[in-house]
Order: sequence, then structure tokens, then C-alpha cells
Amino acid sequence: MSGITLDTVRKEFGSGEEAVLAVEDVDLEIEDGEFLVLVGPSGCGKTTTLRCIAGLEDVTSGRILFGDRDVTEFRARERDVAMVFQNYALYPHMDVRDNIGFGLKLSTQQSAAEIDQQVEDVAAMLGIEDLLDDKPKELSGGQQQRVALGRAIVRDPAAFLMDEPLSNLDAKLRSQMRTELQTLQHDLDVTTVYVTHDQTEAMAMGDRIAVMNDGRLQQVGTAEEVYRSPVNEFVADFIGSPSINVFEATVDGSRLDGPGGFTYHLSDASPVEGLDTVRVGIRPEDITLVDDGIPMVANVLEPMGNENFLYTTLGDHDITARIDPTKRPQPDETVEFAFEESALYLFDPDTGDALKTKDDGEIPDRGADTDTRPSETDEALEEAVE
Ligand code: ADP
Ligand code: MG
Repeated sequence: MSGITLDTVRKEFGSGEEAVLAVEDVDLEIEDGEFLVLVGPSGCGKTTTLRCIAGLEDVTSGRILFGDRDVTEFRARERDVAMVFQNYALYPHMDVRDNIGFGLKLSTQQSAAEIDQQVEDVAAMLGIEDLLDDKPKELSGGQQQRVALGRAIVRDPAAFLMDEPLSNLDAKLRSQMRTELQTLQHDLDVTTVYVTHDQTEAMAMGDRIAVMNDGRLQQVGTAEEVYRSPVNEFVADFIGSPSINVFEATVDGSRLDGPGGFTYHLSDASPVEGLDTVRVGIRPEDITLVDDGIPMVANVLEPMGNENFLYTTLGDHDITARIDPTKRPQPDETVEFAFEESALYLFDPDTGDALKTKDDGEIPDRGADTDTRPSETDEALEEAVE
């Protein structure tokens, strides 16, 4: 077992005019036993990065290390990693037992009985021990995905590399499998790189999240860090649902003038010093409806039960607010809103770089071991038993 280091990893496909730069000089350190989620929009280079780690693609330049060992020139099977894909790719003619044990039979000197025991242990861990004699076509999507996981786990690899493994499952099963996978990964303590385009999944699962865009790594951090302190407007927009509201404002000293008569006086104008315009960001949950705030026009209200989503327009700009469920503005009603300056994000209009983020610098410190949830659950269980 070991951590994984990507040192200026670059991957180009093709050459000349047709060259595609899929991964651009990515530096990333994944800790031993960490669950790292690589997230970003479709085509941003997630799968290519994962395939480079797996040894299924040669890097154009840069190095990949497992622990201190440089594996850049190693072939896939020499790297001792197990991959799980969106398409489970089970062998249709083999039963579950053989599907799980197949890789072991090829790669180890163990006896059939030893392999069988390991297959049964892993099947029990995944709750599919009753399905060992079934063929894949007899299984549900979730069961098939468990078999694919079992095949990866039984090999006891140095790392798990997972590429959108839950994408084919329906929403309910997906969220159940997310929790199961997290618990399993925590128990097995195997370094895991998990690829998804779904920021909700990334936020829910990762010890840390690595956000990619257009072949470039944007930011690596805990869910809280990337949410509260995004390095740029792309990350701010990509992380969080509904998305952050962003509009352009002109800067006049400490005064910001935005669409629809939006005016705001910053108590601290240092982030916008020297700028003519700035991109202003406010997360939907930071908007409060008040009696004497900035006016905007209500369009659609979506009741969520515990809160309401309110879609409004501020001048020519759409604004989404998450508001108190007791507040129900009517369509075309003018409502007024306010927000705390501490919740405000400001971005450079040219580079997109963050100039100010929410509670700048005040990220709650969760300590070195960021994922303590399963052990807390264990403690709670032990207490409950006593
Ligand atoms: P993601 O997994 O984030 O959706 P990919 O890593 O699959 O993105 O792709 C990143 C970019 O590299 C895309 O522009 C894609 O078209 C390109 N690409 C991926 N694989 C190949 C390939 N084998 N040949 C040429 N271009 C590729
Ligand atoms: Mg992909």
C-alpha cells in the first residue's frame, strides 16, 4: 500500500494540428489510504488521468510514483492497481464466484481452495454471498456492480482506481452504494482515486476533492475548502447546488454597482483595489429576504420541504435563492434581499481568480485524519451495545 504522486503529468493524444492536450502538467499527491475524488465536467481529462495512473496510457511527460517508486515506465499489470468502471464488464458465461476469482487465478500461485475462501470472504463483505452461483444476467445492476467491486477487492491491490462506477445505477441505489463504498474503502484502507462528473457525489464521498477543468487541475481540498474557498470562479461555480450566483459589477472605490440597481458598499475594499469591474458571487443559501434590501423580481418558487428555492431576476440577471420554507413570494412579486459581506465571493473579471471568498481563511480545521465518520459510527455502536 502506498500513496500516489503525479509529478507534472502531461498527456497529449495525436500530434501536430490534431493534437489533443487531455491532461496538462498535473501535480497531485494522494496520501496513503486516502479516498481522493477527481471531479470535473465531461471531457476535462479525468479518465485520461486515471488511465495514466493505471498504466493504460503512456504519459507524454512527467512522472507517476507509487510511494517512492517511480512506476512511469511500468506496464499496467506491474502496477498492482485494480480498476472499476462504469460498465462492469463481467464475464457473462461465468458465475459470480468465477467472475470474482478469475483475476486471482491468473495472477497468484494460490490453490483453488485458498482462492475460493478469499472469494467467499469478499462476497460476504459485499453482501452477495448468496449469489455466488448466479450468472451476471440474473443479477440487478447494483448486484453486478458489487461483483465488479468484489473482483477488484479480492486482488488486494495497492490502489483502487474507479471511473464513474455508480453512474449506471438509479438515484436511490447510487446514494446507498456511495455510503457502502466509503465504508468499505475506509475499512480496507486502500488508496483510492474515484472519478466522477457529479459534484454532489464528489462532495459526499471524498476525503479530498481534486477539481479539474480543461485538462488542468484547478484545486485540491476537502469538500469544505473547495466550497468555501474556491481558487477561482470555475471551482466556485462547479461546486455547490444550486450553483453560486455570479454577476459583474462596476467598482467605484468601495461601492459595487451591479445589474438591476444592485448597489453594495464593501466595508473592506482591498480585494477590488485598482479594478474597474469585478465578478460578484453570492451562494443561494446566503441570500435572505428582508424588508429593506436590494429589490429583485420573483419568478418561480420550488418548495423543497425544509426550504424553498426561489428563482428571481435582478435586472437582466437570474438569481437563485434558498429561502425559509414559510416564505412564498408570488410570481412577479418584488422581493428584497440582503447578505452578509463575509459570505460574498469576488472574482477577477479577467483571470477568474478568487479575490475574496466566504469567511476568507476561516476553514474549520478537521485535523489530519479527515474521514472520521465510520470510526465515530463504530464508537456510537459500541456505546449503544454497552
Ligand atoms: P473525462 O473523463 O473528464 O470526460 P477524458 O479524459 O475522457 O475526459 O478526455 C479528455 C480529452 O481527451 C477529451 O477532449 C477527449 O476527447 C480526449 N481523448 C480522450 N481519449 C482520447 C484518445 N484515445 N484519443 C484522442 N483523444 C482522446
Ligand atoms: Mg471519463
